[in-house]
Amino acid sequence: MDNNGYVMTGMSFLLILPIIVLFMVLINLNYADTESKSQFIQSESISNVVHDFELNIPCLGRQVLKEEAFTVVNSKKPLFDSRKSTRDNLQLKIDQITQSYNNKGWHVNCTVQSISESDDPFQVEVTSLVMVQKGKVAHKQVIHQKIPINDPNDPLPDPMPFVKCKDYGGISIDSSRIYYGHSLASYLEQRGKKNWEIYENASSPLFIKKCPYDPFVGHGVPNTMETLKNCLDNGFYHESNDGACYLCRLEGKSTCFHQGLEIFILPPPINNQTNSAPCSVDHVVFGDDNDDIYPGGCIQYHQEGNLIFLLYLDDSHRKKYGLPPI
Ligand SMILES: [Zn+2]
Ligand SMILES: [Zn+2]
Repeated sequence: MDNNGYVMTGMSFLLILPIIVLFMVLINLNYADTESKSQFIQSESISNVVHDFELNIPCLGRQVLKEEAFTVVNSKKPLFDSRKSTRDNLQLKIDQITQSYNNKGWHVNCTVQSISESDDPFQVEVTSLVMVQKGKVAHKQVIHQKIPINDPNDPLPDPMPFVKCKDYGGISIDSSRIYYGHSLASYLEQRGKKNWEIYENASSPLFIKKCPYDPFVGHGVPNTMETLKNCLDNGFYHESNDGACYLCRLEGKSTCFHQGLEIFILPPPINNQTNSAPCSVDHVVFGDDNDDIYPGGCIQYHQEGNLIFLLYLDDSHRKKYGLPPI
C-alpha cells in the first residue's frame, strides 16, 4: 500500500513536471515581454523628449532675438557679442524645460552649443546637444536648426539704425516704420555729405520682411516703377553681400563679412528734385567709414500732385534691382 503510494506520488510528479516547466517558461517569457515593452515605451518617450526640444529651440531662439533687438532699440546700446548673448539667453529659457523634465524623474540636459549666421540672411543657425537618460537607456543627439527671422506673424525689428543715430537726436517709431526726424540729416551733415538735407524726416521699415520680388531685377519692371513702389510701400528687406546680417545688426554694425540684408531709407516726398544725394541703401548711408557713404542719382518712383517721391541709387544697386542707369 505504502509502496503503491510512493509509486503514485512519483508518477504524479513526473506527470506534472512538464506542466511546472511550462509554467516557469511562460512566467519567464511574460517577464521578458514586459521588460522589452517597458524599454520600447521608454525609448518612444526619449524621442518625444528630443522632439520637444526640436520644436522649442527655434521658437525660443526667435523670442530671445526679439527681446535682445527691442533691448537695443530701447537702450540704443549695441550688444557686445550677439552670438554669445543669444546663446546664453536661449540656454536660460531651455534650462526651464530641462528642469520640468528633471522634476518628473528624468535625467535631461540640453546645451546650446552655438549661435551663428546662416547662408540665408533671413535665418540664424543654432546647434544644440540634447542628452536624455532614463533607466538603462541613454541618448545623445546634436541638433542643427535654423531660426527664421522673417516670420510675418512674429516680425523682428532692425536694431542697427537706433545704434547709429544714438548721438544725433531722436528716432521715433510707429507701428511699422522708423522715423528719423533730424537725426539722419544731422548724421550725414556731420560727415560732410552733400545734400544731407534730403534725409530730413526720412523713414525706413522697422521690421525685417523678406522681399518677394525675386529675382530682384524685376523691381524695374514695368518701367512705370510700380513694382519698386510696392516693394518700398511694403518695406521689404533684400539679401545683400554688403549689408550686415541680423546678428551683426544687433551689434550695431551696418556691414559685415557674412551674407546680409539691405533696406532702402526713404527721403520724404518733396516739391523740387535734387539730382544727387547719399545713396538710399542702409549699408551706404550708415557706412562704417566716411568714404563708404557715396552718392546716388535720383529715381522718381511716384508722384502725387506736386509731391515727388524719390530715392537715390548708384549704378551698382540700379543694376541689382533692374532700374535704369544714372
Ligand atoms: Zn524688393
Ligand atoms: Zn554678420
